[in-house]
Amino acid sequence: MIIGKSQKEIDKMRASGQLVGCVLKELRAMVEPGMTTMEVDNTAEKMIRDAGAYPTFKGYNGFPYSICASVNEQVVHGFPSGYKLQEGDIFSIDVGVTLEGFVGDTAATIPVGTVTEDRLKLIRVTEECLQLAIDQCRVGNHLGDIGWAVQSHAEANGYSVVRDYVGHGIGRRMHEDPQIPNYGKPGKGAKIKKGYVFAVEPMINMGQHHTKTLKDGWTVVTLDAQPSAHAEHTIAITEEGPEVLTLVRSEAAAEERIANVA
Ligand code: MG
Repeated sequence: MIIGKSQKEIDKMRASGQLVGCVLKELRAMVEPGMTTMEVDNTAEKMIRDAGAYPTFKGYNGFPYSICASVNEQVVHGFPSGYKLQEGDIFSIDVGVTLEGFVGDTAATIPVGTVTEDRLKLIRVTEECLQLAIDQCRVGNHLGDIGWAVQSHAEANGYSVVRDYVGHGIGRRMHEDPQIPNYGKPGKGAKIKKGYVFAVEPMINMGQHHTKTLKDGWTVVTLDAQPSAHAEHTIAITEEGPEVLTLVRSEAAAEERIANVA
């Protein structure tokens, strides 16, 4: 069952969304060659806890860390580690926070140092897919409109859309109904209503869409070992259109939120 949110609940989700958006923005700014993905995880956890929130991923179904750190052919759910980021890597950070009982979830793929043109294009098209999906998050549209927006743009650029993992409803729990595939047909699937809140997260592969999970039980990689990019926002459906809760809207507020972080 899809749980619609009240205005009061959406206000709370805006707070968790802004917080996690600020965290991701800070993490993006710190990424550079030579840094380990575990350092990024440690920084994320400290920022989140210092802001009075909880890193939602930590302990979720047994996931051990605060961020998912997925490099190059890793699609999602990668473990932070002692791996040192290298010039030319593309690094997906996925992070969630729980603030006053509500979850915000966001992700971005970050180029490390100088990255090849084809990898930069993969990241750009993935971000475009997310924006096109957001544009479909409107009262009266269908879930298939979101999926189609992502799929058609990715495939027009010669890429494929991951089928094995999907976006999701979000609220007091990170994963609520409905599932939101990044593929679909216009006009199909559940109708979108006011008060729904979605985490939309295209995962776009340079090669084929097939994935496998590594022996750690979590890290998802492309089967053909080609690069993959990921982008995610948490979006509230309002009468006026989509509100991107995890898009940082005020630099001043962002600085204030994380001012206590060393
Ligand atoms: Mg998510």
